Amino acid sequence: MEGQYHSIESFGTVDGPGIRFVLFLQGCPMRCLYCHNPDTWSFFQGKRITVETVVNQVLKYQAYLKNGGVTVSGGEPLRQVPFLIELFTELKKHHIHTAIDTSGILFDQNNVSLFDDLMKVTDLVLLDIKAYSESAHLKLTGQSNKNILAFAKYLSQKNVPVWIRYVLVPGLTDDHHEMIAVRQFIETLPNVQKIEVLPYHSMGEKKYEALGIRYALKGVKEPDETLIAEAERILVYGKR
Ligand code: SF4
Repeated sequence: MEGQYHSIESFGTVDGPGIRFVLFLQGCPMRCLYCHNPDTWSFFQGKRITVETVVNQVLKYQAYLKNGGVTVSGGEPLRQVPFLIELFTELKKHHIHTAIDTSGILFDQNNVSLFDDLMKVTDLVLLDIKAYSESAHLKLTGQSNKNILAFAKYLSQKNVPVWIRYVLVPGLTDDHHEMIAVRQFIETLPNVQKIEVLPYHSMGEKKYEALGIRYALKGVKEPDETLIAEAERILVYGKR
Protein backbone atom coordinates (compact mmCIF):
# COMPACT_ATOMS: atom_id res chain seq x y z
CA MET A 1 0.00 0.00 0.00
CA GLU A 2 1.15 3.54 -0.73
CA GLY A 3 0.84 6.66 1.39
CA GLN A 4 0.96 10.29 0.28
CA TYR A 5 3.67 12.03 2.27
CA HIS A 6 5.42 15.34 2.61
CA SER A 7 8.77 14.52 4.22
CA ILE A 8 10.71 12.30 6.60
CA GLU A 9 12.80 13.21 9.64
CA SER A 10 15.11 10.37 10.67
CA PHE A 11 15.99 11.58 14.18
CA GLY A 12 13.07 13.55 15.60
CA THR A 13 13.11 14.44 19.30
CA VAL A 14 9.91 16.44 19.82
CA ASP A 15 7.15 14.14 18.59
CA GLY A 16 6.85 11.52 21.30
CA PRO A 17 9.22 9.68 23.64
CA GLY A 18 12.88 9.14 22.74
CA ILE A 19 14.48 9.48 19.34
CA ARG A 20 11.91 8.98 16.62
CA PHE A 21 11.65 8.40 12.91
CA VAL A 22 8.95 10.88 11.88
CA LEU A 23 6.91 10.51 8.72
CA PHE A 24 4.96 13.66 7.78
CA LEU A 25 1.92 12.81 5.67
CA GLN A 26 0.50 15.23 3.14
CA GLY A 27 -2.88 16.96 3.32
CA CYS A 28 -4.77 18.72 6.11
CA PRO A 29 -8.30 20.17 6.16
CA MET A 30 -7.51 22.51 9.07
CA ARG A 31 -6.11 26.00 8.60
CA CYS A 32 -4.60 26.76 12.02
CA LEU A 33 -3.45 30.36 12.03
CA TYR A 34 -0.18 29.35 13.68
CA CYS A 35 0.53 26.32 11.47
CA HIS A 36 4.22 26.22 10.58
CA ASN A 37 3.74 23.61 7.88
CA PRO A 38 1.34 25.17 5.33
CA ASP A 39 3.21 23.22 2.67
CA THR A 40 1.55 20.05 4.06
CA TRP A 41 -2.01 21.38 3.54
CA SER A 42 -2.67 20.55 -0.11
CA PHE A 43 -4.35 17.21 -0.81
CA PHE A 44 -2.90 17.27 -4.33
CA GLN A 45 0.80 17.61 -3.63
CA GLY A 46 3.35 15.41 -1.87
CA LYS A 47 5.02 12.19 -2.92
CA ARG A 48 4.03 8.52 -2.79
CA ILE A 49 5.77 5.97 -0.60
CA THR A 50 5.04 2.30 0.08
CA VAL A 51 4.72 0.73 3.51
CA GLU A 52 7.64 -1.54 2.61
CA THR A 53 9.90 1.42 1.81
CA VAL A 54 9.05 3.17 5.07
CA VAL A 55 9.65 0.00 7.11
CA ASN A 56 12.98 -0.66 5.38
CA GLN A 57 14.09 2.90 6.13
CA VAL A 58 13.00 2.62 9.77
CA LEU A 59 14.87 -0.68 10.20
CA LYS A 60 18.12 1.00 9.15
CA TYR A 61 17.78 3.28 12.19
CA GLN A 62 16.28 0.73 14.57
CA ALA A 63 19.32 0.68 16.90
CA TYR A 64 18.89 4.42 17.51
CA LEU A 65 15.15 4.16 18.03
CA LYS A 66 15.15 1.63 20.86
CA ASN A 67 13.91 4.12 23.47
CA GLY A 68 11.84 5.93 20.85
CA GLY A 69 10.06 4.69 17.77
CA VAL A 70 8.08 5.92 14.80
CA THR A 71 5.68 8.88 14.76
CA VAL A 72 3.38 9.63 11.87
CA SER A 73 2.56 13.32 11.77
CA GLY A 74 1.33 15.72 9.13
CA GLY A 75 -0.53 17.33 7.60
CA GLU A 76 -3.26 15.19 9.07
CA PRO A 77 -2.37 11.49 9.39
CA LEU A 78 -5.97 10.35 9.99
CA ARG A 79 -6.64 11.15 6.34
CA GLN A 80 -4.81 7.89 5.51
CA VAL A 81 -5.97 5.42 8.16
CA PRO A 82 -5.67 2.22 6.03
CA PHE A 83 -2.05 3.16 5.27
CA LEU A 84 -1.39 3.76 8.98
CA ILE A 85 -2.89 0.41 9.92
CA GLU A 86 -0.71 -1.46 7.43
CA LEU A 87 2.43 0.50 8.36
CA PHE A 88 1.98 0.11 12.11
CA THR A 89 1.09 -3.58 11.76
CA GLU A 90 4.44 -4.12 10.03
CA LEU A 91 6.33 -2.01 12.60
CA LYS A 92 4.79 -3.94 15.50
CA LYS A 93 6.21 -7.15 14.00
CA HIS A 94 9.60 -5.55 14.72
CA HIS A 95 8.52 -4.40 18.23
CA ILE A 96 8.78 -0.72 17.25
CA HIS A 97 6.84 1.86 19.29
CA THR A 98 4.20 3.60 17.16
CA ALA A 99 2.68 7.05 17.63
CA ILE A 100 0.31 9.31 15.71
CA ASP A 101 0.55 13.09 15.96
CA THR A 102 -2.93 14.30 15.02
CA SER A 103 -5.50 17.04 15.40
CA GLY A 104 -8.23 14.39 15.44
CA ILE A 105 -10.29 16.41 12.97
CA LEU A 106 -10.94 13.43 10.68
CA PHE A 107 -12.21 11.06 13.35
CA ASP A 108 -15.40 9.50 12.00
CA GLN A 109 -17.92 8.35 14.60
CA ASN A 110 -19.76 6.44 11.87
CA ASN A 111 -16.70 4.36 11.08
CA VAL A 112 -15.40 3.50 14.53
CA SER A 113 -14.33 -0.03 13.58
CA LEU A 114 -11.65 1.45 11.30
CA PHE A 115 -10.26 3.43 14.22
CA ASP A 116 -10.52 0.36 16.46
CA ASP A 117 -8.25 -1.46 14.01
CA LEU A 118 -5.79 1.44 14.05
CA MET A 119 -5.69 1.60 17.84
CA LYS A 120 -4.78 -2.12 18.03
CA VAL A 121 -1.38 -1.19 16.54
CA THR A 122 -0.94 2.33 17.98
CA ASP A 123 1.01 2.78 21.22
CA LEU A 124 0.51 6.51 21.70
CA VAL A 125 -1.60 9.36 20.31
CA LEU A 126 -0.26 12.91 20.46
CA LEU A 127 -3.48 14.89 20.29
CA ASP A 128 -3.57 18.64 19.71
CA ILE A 129 -6.35 20.44 21.50
CA LYS A 130 -6.30 23.87 19.95
CA ALA A 131 -9.29 25.39 21.74
CA TYR A 132 -12.26 24.14 23.75
CA SER A 133 -15.04 26.51 22.78
CA GLU A 134 -16.48 26.05 19.32
CA SER A 135 -16.19 29.76 18.47
CA ALA A 136 -12.53 29.99 19.51
CA HIS A 137 -11.75 26.81 17.57
CA LEU A 138 -13.48 28.04 14.43
CA LYS A 139 -11.61 31.33 14.58
CA LEU A 140 -8.28 29.59 15.12
CA THR A 141 -8.56 26.69 12.68
CA GLY A 142 -11.50 27.30 10.35
CA GLN A 143 -13.10 24.05 11.59
CA SER A 144 -15.46 22.85 14.32
CA ASN A 145 -13.86 20.90 17.17
CA LYS A 146 -16.73 18.39 17.55
CA ASN A 147 -14.77 15.52 15.96
CA ILE A 148 -11.68 16.37 17.96
CA LEU A 149 -13.44 16.27 21.32
CA ALA A 150 -15.25 13.11 20.24
CA PHE A 151 -11.92 11.54 19.29
CA ALA A 152 -10.46 12.45 22.69
CA LYS A 153 -13.43 10.76 24.40
CA TYR A 154 -13.15 7.73 22.14
CA LEU A 155 -9.45 7.34 23.01
CA SER A 156 -10.32 7.64 26.68
CA GLN A 157 -12.99 4.93 26.43
CA LYS A 158 -10.46 2.67 24.72
CA ASN A 159 -7.79 3.61 27.26
CA VAL A 160 -5.28 4.53 24.55
CA PRO A 161 -2.28 6.44 25.99
CA VAL A 162 -2.52 10.09 24.98
CA TRP A 163 -0.31 13.15 25.24
CA ILE A 164 -2.23 16.39 24.86
CA ARG A 165 -0.52 19.34 23.17
CA TYR A 166 -1.62 22.96 23.31
CA VAL A 167 0.00 25.67 21.21
CA LEU A 168 0.40 28.91 23.13
CA VAL A 169 0.09 32.10 21.06
CA PRO A 170 0.09 35.49 22.81
CA GLY A 171 -3.22 37.27 22.29
CA LEU A 172 -4.74 34.26 20.53
CA THR A 173 -4.69 31.15 22.74
CA ASP A 174 -3.66 32.61 26.10
CA ASP A 175 -7.16 33.41 27.34
CA HIS A 176 -7.49 32.08 30.91
CA HIS A 177 -11.11 30.93 30.56
CA GLU A 178 -10.25 29.01 27.42
CA MET A 179 -7.20 27.35 28.98
CA ILE A 180 -9.19 26.45 32.10
CA ALA A 181 -11.92 24.93 29.91
CA VAL A 182 -9.30 22.84 28.08
CA ARG A 183 -7.82 21.71 31.40
CA GLN A 184 -11.27 20.78 32.77
CA PHE A 185 -11.94 18.73 29.66
CA ILE A 186 -8.58 16.96 30.02
CA GLU A 187 -9.45 16.11 33.61
CA THR A 188 -12.31 13.96 32.29
CA LEU A 189 -9.78 11.84 30.33
CA PRO A 190 -7.98 9.34 32.62
CA ASN A 191 -5.85 8.04 29.73
CA VAL A 192 -3.91 11.33 29.34
CA GLN A 193 -0.31 10.70 30.38
CA LYS A 194 1.20 14.05 29.62
CA ILE A 195 0.20 17.63 28.77
CA GLU A 196 2.60 19.78 26.77
CA VAL A 197 2.40 23.53 26.21
CA LEU A 198 4.08 24.28 22.89
CA PRO A 199 5.19 27.91 22.62
CA TYR A 200 4.27 29.48 19.28
CA HIS A 201 7.19 30.28 17.00
CA SER A 202 7.17 32.23 13.78
CA MET A 203 9.59 30.01 11.86
CA GLY A 204 6.87 29.03 9.36
CA GLU A 205 6.33 32.61 8.18
CA LYS A 206 8.77 32.31 5.28
CA LYS A 207 6.87 29.28 3.97
CA TYR A 208 3.69 31.36 3.74
CA GLU A 209 5.55 33.99 1.74
CA ALA A 210 6.94 31.33 -0.59
CA LEU A 211 3.46 29.84 -1.08
CA GLY A 212 1.83 33.24 -1.59
CA ILE A 213 -0.48 32.74 1.42
CA ARG A 214 -1.19 35.65 3.76
CA TYR A 215 0.37 35.08 7.18
CA ALA A 216 -2.32 36.04 9.69
CA LEU A 217 0.05 36.19 12.67
CA LYS A 218 2.51 38.67 11.18
CA GLY A 219 4.10 40.65 14.01
CA VAL A 220 2.83 38.33 16.78
CA LYS A 221 5.63 37.74 19.28
CA GLU A 222 6.64 34.38 20.66
CA PRO A 223 5.41 33.88 24.27
CA ASP A 224 7.83 34.89 27.03
CA GLU A 225 8.75 32.71 30.00
CA THR A 226 6.13 34.30 32.25
CA LEU A 227 3.31 33.51 29.84
CA ILE A 228 4.58 29.98 29.27
CA ALA A 229 4.74 29.40 33.04
CA GLU A 230 1.20 30.79 33.42
CA ALA A 231 -0.14 28.47 30.73
CA GLU A 232 1.66 25.49 32.27
CA ARG A 233 0.28 26.40 35.69
CA ILE A 234 -3.26 26.09 34.31
CA LEU A 235 -2.93 23.36 31.70
CA VAL A 236 -0.24 21.08 33.10
CA TYR A 237 -0.67 21.55 36.88
CA GLY A 238 -4.39 22.30 36.95
CA LYS A 239 -4.12 25.44 39.09
CA ARG A 240 -6.86 28.02 38.55
S1 SF4 B 1 -3.77 20.60 12.08
FE1 SF4 B 1 -1.52 20.73 12.05
S2 SF4 B 1 -0.94 20.61 9.88
FE2 SF4 B 1 -3.14 21.07 9.96
S3 SF4 B 1 -3.24 23.30 9.82
FE3 SF4 B 1 -3.26 22.77 11.99
S4 SF4 B 1 -1.11 22.85 12.66
FE4 SF4 B 1 -1.14 22.77 10.39
